[in-house]
Amino acid sequence: MLYYYSMKPIYKRTKILATIGPASDSEEMIEKLIEGGINGARLNFSHGSYEEHGAKIAKIREISARLGKQVAILQDLQGPKIRLGDLVDNRFEVAEGDEIVLDYAIEQHDGSANLPVQYNLAEKVKVGEPVFIFDGKVKTEVVEIPSSTAIKLKVLNKGTLASRKGLNLPDTDFGGDVITEKDKRDMEFGATQDIDYVAMSFVQTAEDIEAVRQILLSLGSEAQIIAKIETKKAVSDEELEKIVIAADGVMIARGDMAYEVAPEAVPIVQRKTIALCRKHGKISIVATQTMGSMVDNPQPSRAEVSDVANAVIQGSDVVMLSDESATGKYPYETVRAMRSVIRYTQEHAAVAPIDDIVERGENEALNAISLAAVELAEQIDADAIVVETKSGQTAATVAANRPSLPIVSVTSSTRVAQQLGLNYGTRSFVRPDGEFAGYELAKDLKADGFFGDKENVIVVIVSGRQPGLVGGTDTIRVRVI
Ligand code: PGA
Ligand code: MN
Repeated sequence: MLYYYSMKPIYKRTKILATIGPASDSEEMIEKLIEGGINGARLNFSHGSYEEHGAKIAKIREISARLGKQVAILQDLQGPKIRLGDLVDNRFEVAEGDEIVLDYAIEQHDGSANLPVQYNLAEKVKVGEPVFIFDGKVKTEVVEIPSSTAIKLKVLNKGTLASRKGLNLPDTDFGGDVITEKDKRDMEFGATQDIDYVAMSFVQTAEDIEAVRQILLSLGSEAQIIAKIETKKAVSDEELEKIVIAADGVMIARGDMAYEVAPEAVPIVQRKTIALCRKHGKISIVATQTMGSMVDNPQPSRAEVSDVANAVIQGSDVVMLSDESATGKYPYETVRAMRSVIRYTQEHAAVAPIDDIVERGENEALNAISLAAVELAEQIDADAIVVETKSGQTAATVAANRPSLPIVSVTSSTRVAQQLGLNYGTRSFVRPDGEFAGYELAKDLKADGFFGDKENVIVVIVSGRQPGLVGGTDTIRVRVI
């Protein structure tokens, strides 16, 4: 077994976000996963009823409060993911050269090559554009638009289509129509629930993120926005950095990206995106197939171990589990294996430097103080950087500098504490006296054994002289406890 344990207390700095699905939504399993090391729970709104999602959220909150561990909850919106409708016998065989029709007007499949689809593609696609079906298993090309609701496709390879499988249209311009009616309804539901993040799928431009932000504001939601990077447009040089700046974080959505862009582009986009996120102090999440073979096996492959270790070395904030934890046979074993890889890697390799210094937003003083605090803490070999933070900005900016020691943040806002669950290296605590409580908290943590049995604990405390003022961070103190 690769499980790695060290005698000294090690807090993993790269976080784990696990999708909660049928394999993991029991109380026992949620508790095991939180104890096992997850920092965030992802709810996939491509599936499930509001009742089911609401029940999961309540369970996660109840259990995390009982265990005293902050868990960020992320609502992942389906976006314009287009799917086939229901097929007779759930399947339809195709051969190279066949012609099939996808018709939005069909309600019930009759077994013929006229297939139902859940979106009116006739309004968007052009002749000659590629359409990939069922995770790229069947490749086709548009040959004709026979009616206002139907498109005719030529099949380029033999394969089997199945009910409700997804389509990828890498070259189709959806003209800014990224947020669907379902996404809007889901955001309305989310705004009534205790969620910390909303992730938007198939983002094309920074304007899509602004549109989501307007909707969330109008709903009174406090959720931060994660842009899922998975389209050709989003990975382009013109858009990627603008999206990173517009969002609060991004997910490197390698699953769809492989079909929408190209599999060989994925590692390069990943490295570039993580570096941009670090530069701008935004959260980066490496998603999809991180431990894919553990859906069926109790141990990861060498390639998967290497993939997760690489994400850690590149300085990603978060590594994500999808099917592994949602529907796989070994959700708990997967989390434990991932945690071991993270801990081993962070103890044996430094995070790779990036070319830019951190410039999170416009507050130059905050950027400089955050960097100075990290350099100071590293130089004096401090045991933690304690950050008094109101909006979470100061903690996120400190974290963006990727210190090799724990960041302890203290805030009066439960929401902010939960959101910081996804930030690199950060453990967050809620205190009613929130932004004043850094020194007190550090003393309590020492008494609780957070620093092992160290006699003299050195902390670097980052705070504002006018605590509670957003953007007012102006002080670094060194304290021996
Ligand atoms: P999904 O997003 O699992 O919602 O499709 C992640 C990805 O595409 O990799
Ligand atoms: Mn996707």
